Amino acid sequence: MKLTRTIVLESLPLTKRKFEAIREVYDDYSEILGFLTDYAVENRVKSHLKLRKLFYEKLKEEHNLPTHYYYTVCQDAVTRAKSFLELKKKGKAKTEKPVIRNVSLWLDDVLWDYKRFPQFNTLKNGKKILIIGLTTKRGRIKLPLKPHKLFFKYLNEGWKVKAGAKLRLVEKERKIIAYFVFEKEFDEHEVTGGFLSVDYNADNVSFGTQEFLIQIRTDFGKLTRFYSDVRKRIQETHLIGWKRKLPSGRGRKLLKKFGRRKRNKRVDLQRKLAKRIVELAKKLNATVVLEDVPKNFNQKIVRKRKKNEKRLRDTLHNIGMNGFQKFVLETAIEFGVPVVFVNPAYFSQVCPRCGAFRIKPDDDALRRRVFECPLCGFSLDRDFVAVLNLLGLFPFSLKANEPPVEDSVSPVTLVVEANLLHHKNSLVVISQGLQQK
Ligand SMILES: [Zn+2]
Repeated sequence: MKLTRTIVLESLPLTKRKFEAIREVYDDYSEILGFLTDYAVENRVKSHLKLRKLFYEKLKEEHNLPTHYYYTVCQDAVTRAKSFLELKKKGKAKTEKPVIRNVSLWLDDVLWDYKRFPQFNTLKNGKKILIIGLTTKRGRIKLPLKPHKLFFKYLNEGWKVKAGAKLRLVEKERKIIAYFVFEKEFDEHEVTGGFLSVDYNADNVSFGTQEFLIQIRTDFGKLTRFYSDVRKRIQETHLIGWKRKLPSGRGRKLLKKFGRRKRNKRVDLQRKLAKRIVELAKKLNATVVLEDVPKNFNQKIVRKRKKNEKRLRDTLHNIGMNGFQKFVLETAIEFGVPVVFVNPAYFSQVCPRCGAFRIKPDDDALRRRVFECPLCGFSLDRDFVAVLNLLGLFPFSLKANEPPVEDSVSPVTLVVEANLLHHKNSLVVISQGLQQK
C-alpha cells in the first residue's frame, strides 16, 4: 500500500532579481490559469491534454513562458474546473464561475531539477540548505530552502519525492513556500493473533484487549459545543444569519479563524491518539480492530436526527470520526500493524459476557453511561462494552443460547486524561502496569 505525505518548506529571503524572475512566471501563469479554468468550465473540458491541444499554439504566441509551464497550467486548470463542476452538480457552488484565490505554480520534472534531488549547501554555521533549480524566463535559478527535522526524517526513512511540486509566493517577505509530495510503499501485514479494539465517540476514545481496557477523555463533543457557541455569538454580533444573507467581512474572518482553531485542536489530539494506540498495538503484536463506518454514514445519521433534533452538534461527522479512522489506518500502515474493520451493528446492546441480545438500557443506566445485563448481571461502562464487543470474541447470536461463563470477562479498566498522550509510548507503559495487576 502506498502512502503519500506533503512536506512544506520555506525559502530563505530571495534576492530581488530572483524574486522578480519567479514573479514574472507567476503573473503569466495566473493569467493563463484564470482564462483556461473559465474555458474548461464553460465547455466542460475534463482532459488537460485536450485543453493543451486547443490552446498550446495560442499561449506560445502570447506568452514566452518555458514550454512545460503550459503543460502544468492545463493540469491545474482542469483540476480546478472539475472540482468546480462537481460542486455545481451538488448545488454547492456559490458563484457562477470558479473563483481563483490562491495560485501556486505547478512544476513538473522538467521545471525543477527533480532528478538531482536532494542537493544541499552547507552554511558557515553548519546548517544545511536544500537547493532546487527552477526554470524561469531568465533561465534556471537556484532556490535555497530551509529543510526541517521532519524533512530529514522522511528522507532517511526511504520516502521518495514525487516530480509534481508546487510553489507559492510570499510577496511581503520575498520568500517562496514549496510543497513536495513524498511517497513510500508499505507492505500489508497479515492479521496477527491478538486484537486491540478501539471505540471512538464524542466524549472519549476507549480501547483494549481481553486483559485490560483504557479510556481516554477527549471531550470532542464538548469542544464542538464550545466552538458552536462561539460561532453563534459571532453570528449574532456580526449580523449574519439565516435571514440576513450577507455576512460582514469581519464576521466571516472571525468564523474562519475559530473554525480553523477548532479543527486544529481536534486534529492534533486525533493524530496523537492514533499514534499512541498504534504504538501499543505494535508492542502487543496485535491487530487493531476499528468500527467500519460506511461512506455515507454521516449523512444518514444527520438525516435521521434532523427529524427529532434541532442541534446536530454531536454527530459523528462533527466529532471527526472519519478523520480519526484515517489517522489510525495510516499510522498502522507506517508502523507495520495490521488493521481490520468490523461492522458495529448493535455493539452497545449486546452483553459481552453472556451474549444477551438487544438489551435496552433504562434511563438511569443511560445517564450513568453504564451497561447492565439483566440476564447475567454483568455491568460495565458502555464504551468499554463496545470495545469488548468489537474484539469479536463473542459471536453473540450463537452465545445467546448458552449459559454465561463465570468471570469470562473481567479485564482491568482505567480512565485517563488526554494530556498524557504527549509522551511517547505512554499507553504502552500504562497497559504494562495494568497487565501486572
Ligand atoms: Zn449478560
